[in-house]
Amino acid sequence: MKYLSTRGQPADHEFCDILLGGLAPDGGLYLPESYPQVTRAELDAWRVLSYAELAFAVLSKFITDIPADDLRAICAKTYTPQVYRHVRGGEDAREITPLTWLEPGRLALLELSNGPTLAFKDMAMQLLGNLFEYVLDKRGEQINILGATSGDTGSAAEYAMRGKHRVRVFMLSPHGRMSAFQRAQMYSLDEANIFNIAVEGMFDDAQDIVKAVSNDAAFKAKHRIGAVNSINWARVAAQIVYYFKGYFAATKSNDEEIAFCVPSGNFGNICAGHIARQMGLPIGRLILATNENDVLDEFFRTGVYRPRRSAETQVTSSPSMDISKASNFERFVFDLVGRDPRVVADLWRKVDAGGAFDLNDTPYFARVPEFGFVSGSSSHADRLATIRKVWADYGVMIDTHTADGVKVACENMPGDMPVVVLETAQPVKFAETIREALGREPDRPADFDGIEDLPQHVEVMAPDVDAVKEFIVRHIG
Ligand SMILES: *Cc1c(COP(=O)(O)O)cnc(C)c1O
Repeated sequence: MKYLSTRGQPADHEFCDILLGGLAPDGGLYLPESYPQVTRAELDAWRVLSYAELAFAVLSKFITDIPADDLRAICAKTYTPQVYRHVRGGEDAREITPLTWLEPGRLALLELSNGPTLAFKDMAMQLLGNLFEYVLDKRGEQINILGATSGDTGSAAEYAMRGKHRVRVFMLSPHGRMSAFQRAQMYSLDEANIFNIAVEGMFDDAQDIVKAVSNDAAFKAKHRIGAVNSINWARVAAQIVYYFKGYFAATKSNDEEIAFCVPSGNFGNICAGHIARQMGLPIGRLILATNENDVLDEFFRTGVYRPRRSAETQVTSSPSMDISKASNFERFVFDLVGRDPRVVADLWRKVDAGGAFDLNDTPYFARVPEFGFVSGSSSHADRLATIRKVWADYGVMIDTHTADGVKVACENMPGDMPVVVLETAQPVKFAETIREALGREPDRPADFDGIEDLPQHVEVMAPDVDAVKEFIVRHIG
């Protein structure tokens, strides 16, 4: 399988070439030159596979430059009940991603947040950790991952890379601005290859430092700086697997169609659903849910994509969806415009200059229904009401992001097929809103008891690019 760029660079890369990188050199995002198709016979055979076996079956269509036995071993090592040990509901507690019906045959939750950091980002990031180690060992190379986080991504990256040889993680976070639980999760890690840097400022200040360091090409090359942000193709690829798993769990035969509803920010999660559908998985609808930061809902309702400035981005109680532009959206638009990279490059010339684009003047917006997309948005009041309703009616406690998904799913029930809402985090990560909604503490997995009291390892620094560079150099040795 070869990979091309959405802005025109031809398909001359294999999976391992793009694994450690971010954007393509022309500024576009990598995609397979064509989507591998799944036959009916394959679907029938895949229905009975374990998560790890299914991951191998799906990923081996996208990863053709790692020997099959090695890839199978990497999947088997990643998707184990020990790694995804925080399972709650579901018919089978040994599943990695159990499905729970709220209303049988109509509405279900797919648990994706049973990994080490209790958010769905672990589903892909754990695989990435093992893939990085494998490829770097083969090549005798090292990488220093630099990132900025407001919560879920940073901790998922650190728990995926902890103790891995040839990998160091330097993670910037806004000092004093994450929840006590999120701080404890990241800063209590005591690993020689993990470095937490709390920047005195906001998330955007931390992000700006990462951009400044990454734009210093000489520094980046000399110190082997890499990233694991949401545009990383391997993360999207790993997420395709649970759409298959969720489909099999929700249906009895491969003749049925289902809908997925996906709480969305950077369009990474739902992009994987779009690709699963392009491969031939019978997904009737993809329902995209946003919070008050409704850039994507606006596009699917109106055809206008208008990224916001950071000052326009609202701080909400589903903070992992607080985005001003959706970094993976370009992948979908590439398919929507018939995979014409010139059209994509033209559209993003406007976006990259701080503007917007309107697809109503083009033949493309009318094609959105062919791709199964509908959308909706949710507010803080909606989240509270939904958390209360799901708790009262079904005895299930959901987090704020999943609540955005359930709210939008209920407004967009197709009627003729069940909807599976992707559960993207566990409620304990957002305890404050759970207390506001339910007047009680969220459930906490036993191994997180007292985590806030553990010693924390973090360097507090001024928002200063040179100081961060100096810190990195000093700790690479
Ligand atoms: C990252 C995240 C999202 C958004 O996912 P995207 O892939 O950015 O669309 C939603 N919910 C939670 C809990 C997250 O951590």
